[in-house]
Amino acid sequence: MHKISIAIDGPAGAGKSTLAKKIANLKNLLYIDTGAMYRAVTLKLLRENVPLDNYELVKRVLDNTIIEIINGSIFLDNVNVDKEIRTPKVNENVSKVAALPFVRETLVKLQRKIADKNNVVMDGRDIGTKVLPNAEYKFFITASIEERARRRYEELKKNGYHCSFNDIVKKIAERDKMDSERKLDPLKKADDAVIIDTTNKNIDEVINIILGKIESIK
Ligand code: C5P
Repeated sequence: MHKISIAIDGPAGAGKSTLAKKIANLKNLLYIDTGAMYRAVTLKLLRENVPLDNYELVKRVLDNTIIEIINGSIFLDNVNVDKEIRTPKVNENVSKVAALPFVRETLVKLQRKIADKNNVVMDGRDIGTKVLPNAEYKFFITASIEERARRRYEELKKNGYHCSFNDIVKKIAERDKMDSERKLDPLKKADDAVIIDTTNKNIDEVINIILGKIESIK
């Protein structure tokens, strides 16, 4: 049977995952956080001290890694790592890991397999352009860098990490740059995606815009 898919792309801290989760709940779709998958791979490579320029070793470790999303949680080798993937150390390294061709190839394959079998809302950077170019609905969510940094700051503080706001602005800017300028599947708005700037909008306003566009999904 034909599966429905909604692609939500955009830079870090734009509000993609909050929106995607809500839409998934309202429309009874499966929410897939592809960023969490790149983070889980990063966590594994960091734990095993794999030098990222060692292609053979990265491949060997990845071939022996199980990444799963179960009930909205991310599992690495059968262990829930929802918390461990959100540390500053993973934040700092994830874009380097996500630029590795073998990592992307492996995760894109896995993401497509999930979307083949389920009705999904998938959020990430390359969902509308690469993973699901035929998605029925595509959204590109943005916000000013200050607003995105503010949201990330609140999130980190809530999880018990102390960090300076200016530092977060700098780190997000670095991640944006790496994600947008990488050769393979960079962060980019798909030509047919609806762009939504969430800087001065609350979550319900944005949800209503999205719901207006996906009316046909019952
Ligand atoms: O969405 P989140 O900020 O958790 O993503 C973490 C990182 O994973 C991004 O900065 C990007 O480098 C990478 N990513 C990606 N492609 C995706 C999703 C995430 O390259 N589809």
